Amino acid sequence: MARTLDEIARYIELSDPKPFRARAFEKAARAVENIDDDLDQLVESGAIYDVDGIGKATGQIVEELVRTGESRYLDELRAQYPPGIFDLLRVPRLGLKKIGILFSELGIASLDELEAAARDGRLAKLSGFGPKTAEQILKGVEFARMRESQFLLPVGIEAGETLREKLAEIDEIEDAEITGSVRRRFEVIRNVNLLLATKKPDTVARKLEGIVADLVQLDEMTYKGVARGEMDVLFHLASPTDFGSEMVRTTGSREFVEAFGRIPKARTEKDAFRFAKKPFVEPERRETAEDLNAKKRPKLITIDDIRGTFHVHTTYSDGRNSVSDMLSAARDRGWEYVGISDHSQAAYYAGGLNETRLRQQQAEIAREEKNVAPMRVFRGTEADILNDGRMDYGPEILSRFDFVIASIHSNFKMSQDEMTDRMLRAMDDPAVTFIGHLTGRKLLAREGYSVEYDRIFEKAGQRGIMIEINGNPNRLDVDWRHIKRALDRGVVFSINPDAHSVSEYNAMITGTWVARKAGLSPKYIFNTRGVDEVEEFLRERKARA
Ligand SMILES: [Zn+2]
Ligand SMILES: [Zn+2]
Repeated sequence: MARTLDEIARYIELSDPKPFRARAFEKAARAVENIDDDLDQLVESGAIYDVDGIGKATGQIVEELVRTGESRYLDELRAQYPPGIFDLLRVPRLGLKKIGILFSELGIASLDELEAAARDGRLAKLSGFGPKTAEQILKGVEFARMRESQFLLPVGIEAGETLREKLAEIDEIEDAEITGSVRRRFEVIRNVNLLLATKKPDTVARKLEGIVADLVQLDEMTYKGVARGEMDVLFHLASPTDFGSEMVRTTGSREFVEAFGRIPKARTEKDAFRFAKKPFVEPERRETAEDLNAKKRPKLITIDDIRGTFHVHTTYSDGRNSVSDMLSAARDRGWEYVGISDHSQAAYYAGGLNETRLRQQQAEIAREEKNVAPMRVFRGTEADILNDGRMDYGPEILSRFDFVIASIHSNFKMSQDEMTDRMLRAMDDPAVTFIGHLTGRKLLAREGYSVEYDRIFEKAGQRGIMIEINGNPNRLDVDWRHIKRALDRGVVFSINPDAHSVSEYNAMITGTWVARKAGLSPKYIFNTRGVDEVEEFLRERKARA
């Protein structure tokens, strides 16, 4: 529902010079995301129109979507533009407004057309563009090509689940599971793999044509199609007696499957491992053959091991929900504690808090925490690491917090040496508890800055500073590939959502997948500890500071 409303907003922004119309749909999308009650009932009773953020026009669309699953308005908007026009968004610095102008003035709706217009001078002549912009866009097209048809993991999961629902209506399919990189919880995916159990592959193949576009047969039992006009989908058909063995074959990376060797015929995946006399390896750990051959395998952390969370923003800085909303949503998730951490003053673009605002925020937390007892509320900050490695707040202010997340949000262009020194200096500040998003990367959007992991991990281990596993699906930072080398140095991690809204607490799930991919058991994760232990740890650290 939210995705549809966002899509409408994007189309409006292409064509409509008045931004508030698009904003209204975006607002409605966020409102829908945060609805806990049953949407069907809200529509049935008409209460949907009372939800904050939903107006008359947007409410009607929600109603239509609930009743029919479709929006005629969106269909009309889609018909006005060629499919794939939003691919242009992959070009850095090209926003919807500019894309709208490019389409209406020059008919540009694809990367190829954009590249041609940048080369032959048409772009440079367009008002508001100029030769310099044309040159930048040319570079941007190259960048966008490199990232073509890659998607963030949650997009793949959602596409896969939507397809499974449709597959459930085909009688000849006995079972359907998502496999491949999505099942391995790989952070960026190129396609969605679905394994289908059927005794009638030919009939199923014919019916798949109604589910995806451009269906082609790759080999006897494999078909490829396109979902949502952009995403490759691979359908692997298998007889029910082979379903388990095919789960193994289509889930693992090439390295894993080759190391596995001959896969015995089996109905279930567990059986396939058992018949092959191999230890069961969790899907997230099937990137390499490491666990197949290991004597001792880690007991992987699960989301149920998580007992609390840190790194939560509110409307005091750039969050979208109030202190009260963020606290009660944390309580509703069953957590024993939550750590609020708005931005510090240097992060002016994110509404960083000066001293006055900080006092107001602390007072509000003090008022609100009673309502969520016995859940414990920790006071923290996500404080900027300044260019010279000093913390954005001085010692007096920092000493008021229960915990301090030190993050870099500026001057990403420093050399690796400078950046590493900057971070190491921040880690000398005795108030620092966590390092936030270690490299500042945004998946498919920007590379992070570069730091020397080993030196950071070494110091973190020595000083008992925890490294955050930022669970925001756009970040997933620190990368799971680097985690293992921190363990020998005694580093403890914390899975943090970096939540800017109630729904972004879901980042705890994606963050947990990162920890699982790294092979972490609960003992390496700070927020698997109970509230008393956590409180004691933070108090002791503070006393030493
Ligand atoms: Zn941050
Ligand atoms: Zn943050």
